[in-house]
Amino acid sequence: KPTIGVLAVQGSFAEHIDSLQKLDVNCLEIRQKSDLTDHQLQGIILPGGESTVMGKLLQELDLFADLKHRIENGLPVLGTCAGLILLAKAIANDPNVYLGTMDIVAKRNAYGRQLGSFSAQGSFAEMGEIPMTFIRAPFIESASKYVEILAKIDGHIVAAKQDNMVVTSFHPELSADLSVHRYFLNLCE
Ligand code: GLN
Repeated sequence: KPTIGVLAVQGSFAEHIDSLQKLDVNCLEIRQKSDLTDHQLQGIILPGGESTVMGKLLQELDLFADLKHRIENGLPVLGTCAGLILLAKAIANDPNVYLGTMDIVAKRNAYGRQLGSFSAQGSFAEMGEIPMTFIRAPFIESASKYVEILAKIDGHIVAAKQDNMVVTSFHPELSADLSVHRYFLNLCE
């Protein structure tokens, strides 16, 4: 069984763990540095939440350097919503850069702050049509040629992959559909 770490400092980590448990993997909550350094992980999930809060907590817990190092060395990572923002090389409407490992420009709260929550059906990679839940979601405003686009909604990129990094602006952990987690676990093997 692979062991997948789920960053568990803030946001929808419990729902990711629920999804992973349906797929017969070991989950490890990442709450401090030793969780990351003392375990063999086959992948890691950065959940949705609030990127500014997560950034602050990652800073306080001194987790940035280790996380970035592991990702740059090929550890598969799935970043959903705020997790996408953490991975982006730049944020169009925010001066912060967090891990900055993925060649995308993210736009925060890209659908507006109040009416920003909605569901859609869209095709994701080779997995077919899946439900997509957006909550004050970012989208990918631009991506370099190294980035593979996995899904678009209304012309905006909402899922993408670059090497070991997969991101979605929607919340796959909030629907019963496990396609995105399955897709990610394939990458972790
Ligand atoms: N709006 C949040 C942010 O900018 C992301 C929303 C989410 O993760 N559901 O961090």
